[in-house]
Amino acid sequence: MEACNAFYYATRDPLGAAGDFVTAPEVSQMFGEMVGAALADCWKRAGAPANAIYAELGPGRGTLASDALRVLRAVGFAGAAHFVEASPVLRRAQKDLVPAGRWHDAIDTLPRRPLLLVANEFFDALPIRQVADGVERCVSLVGDELAFDRIGDIVEDSPVRDQATADVAARLAANGGAALIVDYGHEKSAPGDTLQAVHKHQFAPVLADPGEQDLTAHVDFEALRKAAGSNVQVSRLVAQGEWLKRLGIVARAEALIRANPDQAEAIHTALERLTGADQMGTLFKIIAIHSPDWPEPVGFA
Ligand code: SAH
Repeated sequence: MEACNAFYYATRDPLGAAGDFVTAPEVSQMFGEMVGAALADCWKRAGAPANAIYAELGPGRGTLASDALRVLRAVGFAGAAHFVEASPVLRRAQKDLVPAGRWHDAIDTLPRRPLLLVANEFFDALPIRQVADGVERCVSLVGDELAFDRIGDIVEDSPVRDQATADVAARLAANGGAALIVDYGHEKSAPGDTLQAVHKHQFAPVLADPGEQDLTAHVDFEALRKAAGSNVQVSRLVAQGEWLKRLGIVARAEALIRANPDQAEAIHTALERLTGADQMGTLFKIIAIHSPDWPEPVGFA
């Protein structure tokens, strides 16, 4: 999974109608604006520390960063934008939208400063392990086809995700700040096979075309909460649709429609896509991690 996704992201921009999948920030600017508003409010309530920076894990095309930073700049936040991004193709796209960004290969080189950190659909792309009836399941070559070496009841874990979460938590605990993590997944750890492949907006067999399709697995938010540890505070897990509405996305949509009446239908469709229970609204969830000396971001209580 790690090798396939490294190749996959390094060799293409998979986002958008012409690619393999569409993410929330690519649906509408309103998503990044709500994230920016939550971070702006949190930063102000933390006393608006001038040394804080914006940081994002796996920023895709940079759309979320550019929409969130517009809101943050409007309240006086002047911190730099730091991106943890492995893909050279996506780094170039991010640089087009956020020319002054700084790039990192991993979380541990982010500056030792208070963080306003965001990760949307980053954790689902990190590799998982699967255990079948107590034995780790591996992929082997049978003839010239890839195949799983065993079947059985599957339990998943992800040491890579746990490490990424622990790294973020350690930074927040040491230097202060808040992180918003958005992804699909489950609130409680549970057995089950959630590995999936998506190609051109359709599910595909997971072992087909290695490195040519998007491999993800559901995020186990209970495991994430555990990996964050006890030196930070972790919020409740809230459905994306509910969180966006608490942040005021409906009022924002109305304002955008007043300013662009000819786009009313497209804005309504985007709002429904981001918040609708049958669309991204309940499948995607959001959780916040923050240092004890920073307030909890809004929308979780
Ligand atoms: N957050 C963006 C993109 C999500 S796709 C959006 O919402 O549109 C996943 C992103 O994570 C891509 O930018 C991909 O290149 C990056 N990524 C995946 N695995 C990574 C890794 N191990 N290290 C750094 N970035 C990674």
